[in-house]
Amino acid sequence: MNFLPDSEHDAFRAEVRAFFKEHLPADLARRTYIGTHPPSVEDYRTCQRLLNERGWGAPHWPVEWGGTAWSPMKRHVFMEELYAADVLDYGWQGTHMIGPVIIAFGNDAQRRRFLPPMINGDEYWCQGFSEPNAGSDLASLRTRAHLVGREWVISGQKIWTSDAHYADWGFFLVRTDASVKPQRGLSLLLVPMSSTGLRVRAIESIHGGRDLNEVFLDDVRVPADNIVGEAGQGWTYAKYLLEKERTASASLYQNKRELEKARIIAREETVGGCRLIDTPAFARKIALIEADLLALQWSVLRVLAGENNANDPDAVVSALKVRGSELLQRVSELQVEALGPRALRAFGSHDEAANLVDGTPQWPAYVAGRTAQFLYLRAATIFGGSREIQKNIIAKRAFGL
Ligand SMILES: Cc1cc2nc3c(=O)[nH]c(=O)nc-3n(C[C@H](O)[C@H](O)[C@H](O)COP(=O)(O)OP(=O)(O)OC[C@H]3O[C@@H](n4cnc5c(N)ncnc54)[C@H](O)[C@@H]3O)c2cc1C
Repeated sequence: MNFLPDSEHDAFRAEVRAFFKEHLPADLARRTYIGTHPPSVEDYRTCQRLLNERGWGAPHWPVEWGGTAWSPMKRHVFMEELYAADVLDYGWQGTHMIGPVIIAFGNDAQRRRFLPPMINGDEYWCQGFSEPNAGSDLASLRTRAHLVGREWVISGQKIWTSDAHYADWGFFLVRTDASVKPQRGLSLLLVPMSSTGLRVRAIESIHGGRDLNEVFLDDVRVPADNIVGEAGQGWTYAKYLLEKERTASASLYQNKRELEKARIIAREETVGGCRLIDTPAFARKIALIEADLLALQWSVLRVLAGENNANDPDAVVSALKVRGSELLQRVSELQVEALGPRALRAFGSHDEAANLVDGTPQWPAYVAGRTAQFLYLRAATIFGGSREIQKNIIAKRAFGL
């Protein structure tokens, strides 16, 4: 793959940029820039519809279901522009997680039922995998489901379920056979979040927003047809789901956007009459992160190109996750450092960030949301598989330890 931009990619970049400039509502872009969590579900729906109407609702899906068949380089250019324009990056649990699983392992009826409202943002999804005592050790999960006539009856508890309070549907990993070894007895069920017996309880987060939940399932009944693929194959599907977007774990595009925000802050803030960005100490910090980000980008591009190297693919993905999540934390730390005392006022809900902190000489627009983002990103080295688990994978798969 040629990594250098050519005239075709330049033209495509210009097309994407012009589209977002013309169609993305400015207030929505502003809220995405602020970036407090969670974004409103209405903003998600607006972005997803906008993208879908343009044919960009799920670029990575097969064309038959609304995908684009873009080359990896085109997808890379698209994602750079998506983030640069402050468009929300899809409803991840839907188009990026369960969507590809339904495409690969679901049946035709499920594809027809679930994919169109997913790609258009009409139905929002959450992921019910983790449980108390079953996070890193997911295979030990205890939520059970058994068939009663033509229905699955589900009982148990999930935790850390992002967005469960506004999701329409959840995909739940459950134990359907306790008599076999743990990985063999799991199944993947699609559950309406409005089901009788399903209760969602909020978990307070350090950043002040509400995105995390506990989900209690008390004899929840769903039709037998709501199973994806075969009973007992849930572990295989869960692994496919987590591995599907191999390069996404690097958070490359988010890292680039957040670094740009750090630069914006450092261009505006001054120390002793000197712009922060012009002070050697701060410029050095930015340059160090830039160098690491560039290295991350080349690694992502090599994976996108399908380039074979000596390392095990699982180890590569884990390495991208470790580097990407640590970079996110470093970049957000840099933003907060650059803001100095102003950072103390730079967190809170969307309303607070937009109305209270925005646009006054004391609290200029670039301040809003940075501290909330910094606090939220403490979790970047936990969600999607903790840093220690990723390092275990690297040790085992890349170094045979
Ligand atoms: C913001 C956020 C959003 C999330 N969203 C979702 C979601 O939508 N759906 C969902 O299902 N889950 C979600 N999760 C859960 C997430 O996947 C788990 O938190 C994660 O897998 C870690 O599991 P745990 O919390 O049970 O920690 P544990 O597995 O109990 O780990 C605790 C600590 O021990 C370390 N550790 C554990 N085992 C080992 C080992 N073998 N070797 C070395 N160190 C080890 C871990 O690295 C960690 O530091 C989310 C989590 C967060 C923080």
